[in-house]
Amino acid sequence: MNPQPEYAGRSWRVIIDALESHHYGPGKGSGQPEAWNRYMCPVHEGDGAHHTPSLGVRYDPRQAKTIVRCFSGTRCDDAEVMGRIGLRVRDMWDRLPERARNSGTSFGGRSATTTAARTPRQVFSRAEQAILAAHFERPTKPDLGAQIGPAEVADTYVYRWHTGQVEGAVVRMHTPHEHGTAKSFFQKHWTGTEWENTGFAPLPWHLGDVREALDTGRELYVCEGEKDVQRARRAGQLATCNAMGAGKWTPEHAKWLRGAGRVIVVADRDRAGYRHAGKVADSLEGHVGEVRVLQARDGKDLSDHLDAGHGIDELEPVRYLDRPGFQHQHQHQAAAPASRGRDPSTTDRRRAR
Ligand SMILES: [Zn+2]
Repeated sequence: MNPQPEYAGRSWRVIIDALESHHYGPGKGSGQPEAWNRYMCPVHEGDGAHHTPSLGVRYDPRQAKTIVRCFSGTRCDDAEVMGRIGLRVRDMWDRLPERARNSGTSFGGRSATTTAARTPRQVFSRAEQAILAAHFERPTKPDLGAQIGPAEVADTYVYRWHTGQVEGAVVRMHTPHEHGTAKSFFQKHWTGTEWENTGFAPLPWHLGDVREALDTGRELYVCEGEKDVQRARRAGQLATCNAMGAGKWTPEHAKWLRGAGRVIVVADRDRAGYRHAGKVADSLEGHVGEVRVLQARDGKDLSDHLDAGHGIDELEPVRYLDRPGFQHQHQHQAAAPASRGRDPSTTDRRRAR
């Protein structure tokens, strides 16, 4: 009966994303899921005209349910509200897929609500809180028009082991379109004799920088992609990232950074960026001296920030994700798990030492 926090708060995320993608947001309010946040009611305020948003949305962790309520005199029906954003009433509850599938058998006749009610109180990851508080606009996909030329290699980022041996590469492609350039990436793995178009071992980029940070105690920047790592390095910092950007950081990447003095995670200013940065920070907490989570003062990423004329030391904290000094309370424990980290199941040519 372990709680499954990865599903907790899911209904909130699903409903907020649906409201925003249908342009009934961004929400007004504290951004705290457990307080009422206001959106335009899809039923009676969905005419595109300006309204004072009257759809209240809040998350009740006790029920593991997101409550949706039209506060206007019309008191629009839940089912209709949900229908307008492509959802059903049952989407108001966090669904716990494993349990839902079993509910006919191991849980007897118990309803999904009963099992969901065991969800723990603290259900929101810091990344989800940060996303809510940031009130991101829903990104609109730019219309690039028709492709007007072949895709071309714009850059190749080579990933190496600490021995210098090549493991793989990420290739950045640019494809010209009528109204701009589409970028894409693919990975290839070096077998020792040839390149295969597949992924490769979970290795941070520029391992030399990672090792230097460990050896000297210098700050290490973790960016979302190679382009920003290049910019950080040009600004005189040690920097790294994982291949293929947001969402692809793993505990294997984090192992290489254990013992670093201070890690600066640079979060791209969007949902995927915040989730990514939260994941990187969580994977390092307790294993490094301090983790900071910072973001561009202007624009979306570190490149934009530097292009706007700001220094790399002028990044600003991400609310909820950045908790300076938090690690200090844990430093004593942080020193100890080093041996536990050397899990015998990961026989490590991968480990630096
Ligand atoms: Zn309404």
